[in-house]
Amino acid sequence: MKYRDILQAVDTEKALTLIGITTTNQGAYIKFPCLKCENTAIIKAYGDKKNLYYCPECKNSGHIISLAMEKNKLDWQAANNLLASKAVIINARKITEELNINYELLYHEYLKNKGILKETCECLEIGVPKGKTMLAGSVAFGVRDENGMKVAYYGIRMKDEKPVYHKSFNPEMYLYNFDRIDKNEIVYFTTDMFKCIGSIENGRQCICNFGLPYLSLMQLELLNDIERTIVLVDETLIRTVAIQLAEYHRKFYHFE
Ligand SMILES: [Zn+2]
Repeated sequence: MKYRDILQAVDTEKALTLIGITTTNQGAYIKFPCLKCENTAIIKAYGDKKNLYYCPECKNSGHIISLAMEKNKLDWQAANNLLASKAVIINARKITEELNINYELLYHEYLKNKGILKETCECLEIGVPKGKTMLAGSVAFGVRDENGMKVAYYGIRMKDEKPVYHKSFNPEMYLYNFDRIDKNEIVYFTTDMFKCIGSIENGRQCICNFGLPYLSLMQLELLNDIERTIVLVDETLIRTVAIQLAEYHRKFYHFE
C-alpha cells in the first residue's frame, strides 16, 4: 500500500498496540507517551489528519509509520508492511447496540437559512437538540447503520461548522442515509451533509461520508453495493476520491 493509503486505512489504536505503545482515551484523539520526552502526545484516529501525531511538550511530530519505525527499529518498508498486514481492520469499530439517547430536535433558523425544510428535518431526524447535551449549539443528524439501527447523532456546530459527536461513534464505519436508499437506482454521493440533505429534498437518493476528506475502507465496501453512483465532491477532493474509487470500486460510477 502507498503511504497515504496506509495513513487512511490503518486503525490507529490497533496500530499503536501492535507496535507496543500504550494508549489512553479512545475517540478522535488518542493519547500516548511521547517517544522523545515521555509526556503525553496525541494522535488523530480518524478524520482530517488521521494517523498524524503531535507532542505539545517537545513539539515532536510525525505519523503512524514513523512511530512504528522508531519504536520497533524498522526501516520504512518494513514498518509499512507491518501496518498494512496487521493493523488494517474494517469492521471493528462498529456500534452493535441501538443508541438509547433520544434528543428532542428543534427546527432552527440556521436550517432554514440552509434551505432545509421543517418537514425534511422531522422526517430525517435533524435538528438542534433541546437542553444541555454534548450537541447543544449544533445541528444533530440521527445516524443509522446500513440495517437501519440508530447508532449515533452526528453534529455540526453552528458557529463554526465543526463536527461534534460522541467518541463511541467513528464516522468511518458508516455512510449517512445508506439504510434508506434503493441500491439498484442511481445514488448520489457527497462529502457535505447539508448538500446531501438538499439533494434528498430535490428527490434524489443521496449519501454522505460525514465530511471526511477521503473514503474509509468500510465506506468503499458499502459503496460497492450500489449499482450506479454519481459523485459530487469539492474540486480539492476529486483526486483523492477518484484514486480510491479507481482502486476499490467495482460498480459503475461517474463524477458530476
Ligand atoms: Zn514529546
